[in-house]
Amino acid sequence: MPDSLLKVDGLTAGYNRVPAIRDLDLEVGPGEVVSLLGPNGAGKTTSLLAMVGLVPLMSGTVEVLGEPLGKPHHMARRGMMLVPDDRGLFFGLTVRDHLRLARRRPSAERETVVMERFPALARLDSRKAGLLSGGEQQMLAIAAALLSEPRLLLVDEMSLGLAPKIVQDMLPAIRDLAKEEGIGVVLVEQHVELALAVSDRALVLNHGRVVLAGAAADLLKDRSQLEAAYFGSDEFADRGAEAMS
Ligand code: ATP
Repeated sequence: MPDSLLKVDGLTAGYNRVPAIRDLDLEVGPGEVVSLLGPNGAGKTTSLLAMVGLVPLMSGTVEVLGEPLGKPHHMARRGMMLVPDDRGLFFGLTVRDHLRLARRRPSAERETVVMERFPALARLDSRKAGLLSGGEQQMLAIAAALLSEPRLLLVDEMSLGLAPKIVQDMLPAIRDLAKEEGIGVVLVEQHVELALAVSDRALVLNHGRVVLAGAAADLLKDRSQLEAAYFGSDEFADRGAEAMS
């Protein structure tokens, strides 16, 4: 098994030749949870999309399980799953249909393991995805991704539209599964403190650049530094850029 499941070096990517993220370095090892934090428009989603090959790189490299990035469907086959912020569900299909579709190899054992993490889903077996609550839809999207036994899981704004209580339950479930199964996780989150509480490391992006990075526990200790990075104090952005150069 490679030491790092995902290795991103100097990633620059964007739209119409305008970078939305510049010079991103990131490494995720087995069982590690790394959060990408930052305000709206910071470049978090673009970073995830570039990591799975859905937005082309303008420069830099991405290695997945020790090999260069390929086409998005090849990445999925290699074991990298993206749960997009719109959850990617088919509203007319039931919970059971989604779980059946998601299985790479039919495995009742795997389904049991995943369902134990999200017991609420088991009770909703025949409910159509479009009739689920936001939290239930999110659980289904993540459960479906986990069923295919990913090596790497990229989750974009899981908490979008969810009550903090649901996020509080779901983030630890993802972290525990990552630790137990050695899955590398990249979380894009708006709930900074909840994300840091389940992460090993985190990067704060602002205006398409990394302005702060470190161990999640250290970032949690220094709120003023975190807030300055998050809200983009120019003074901190300058210091942050210096520190990272
Ligand atoms: P949010 O939380 O609002 O999704 P984000 O940190 O994920 O923010 P991105 O969605 O990556 O940020 O957006 C970064 C920048 O790229 C923004 O300025 C945004 O307007 C721009 N952008 C995003 N998607 C596109 C697109 N399809 N075409 C052109 N510009 C885009």
